[in-house]
Amino acid sequence: MKFDLSIITKSKTEFIDITEQVSNAVKSAGLTQGLCCIYIPHTTAGVTINEGADPAVKRDIISMLNKLIPLDGDYHHSEGNSAAHIKTTMTGNAAVCPIENGRLLLGTWQSVFLCEFDGPRTRRVYICIS
Ligand code: ZN
Repeated sequence: MKFDLSIITKSKTEFIDITEQVSNAVKSAGLTQGLCCIYIPHTTAGVTINEGADPAVKRDIISMLNKLIPLDGDYHHSEGNSAAHIKTTMTGNAAVCPIENGRLLLGTWQSVFLCEFDGPRTRRVYICIS
């Protein structure tokens, strides 16, 4: 089954913790065991599972991505947002987490983040549970 989220982002580049929304979808699905796929249907926003306990981690990831992939570069894409497309390719636009005992089987420190690279925008998140 599929659940849709609509997330309003506020910055050009930011990671938004969507763990609670994904967990709620898993609970609603009522599945004891299975897989949860979090899919982002955009080309300038991605998803990643990484540390949510220390906010410095997402800050460091964003900082390093910005350093590696500057906004201005030898880009040909006329829309002017090539850096956002490249960052999205680096994070990927899907993440998978097992479901066990009706809950996401995330590690102690793991959270699910929507990765905005060309905000602010309204982003869709598809949560597919099977
Ligand atoms: Zn573009």
